[in-house]
Amino acid sequence: LNIQQIDLQEMLNDIFMMLNSKAEQKDIQLTLNLNDEPGVIEGDFDRLKQVFLNLINNSITYTSTAGKVIVSIKEKNDSVKINIKDTGIGIADDELPRIFERFYRVDKARSRNSGGTGLGLAIVKHIIEAHHGSISVESEVGVGTTFTLFFRKKLETFS
Ligand code: ATP
Ligand code: MG
Repeated sequence: LNIQQIDLQEMLNDIFMMLNSKAEQKDIQLTLNLNDEPGVIEGDFDRLKQVFLNLINNSITYTSTAGKVIVSIKEKNDSVKINIKDTGIGIADDELPRIFERFYRVDKARSRNSGGTGLGLAIVKHIIEAHHGSISVESEVGVGTTFTLFFRKKLETFS
């Protein structure tokens, strides 16, 4: 990893701009909740960008027209918590533990249309673990999905 100080607000703003036209096409409202939190962590810029691009792109992909995707950043002592919440199709309880596996896609027939490989979340999890962070997911079919990520503000405590 190429470790530097990462401003998560700035990174998420950039990603919102990258995904803005895709969201607009589906009439999906993208919201970034900052709560005046600085949200600066130590990490690898390119890898972390890949994490948030994958997760937010998934949220837009698996949410139907006129839905919402809300990303929020919260500081918690020596860590930063990021929530990525959508009002999308959701994931069934029995599928949920498997979504981080390589090549796993919930509905083969349905997801064929969205043209992915099922590698996105496996890569996301791998990168987060390399940063000593964590990712968890809660979901309800037909209601939506929320991914919760924690990152340490400082990495050297682990080296
Ligand atoms: P790609 O490799 O292009 O990202 P993918 O999106 O199918 O393909 P993952 O990102 O790993 O692969 O996601 C795995 C599966 O988890 C998806 O196929 C989808 O069924 C489900 N999934 C992921 N994110 C969401 C979400 N926000 N809402 C509902 N289902 C989701
Ligand atoms: Mg994906």
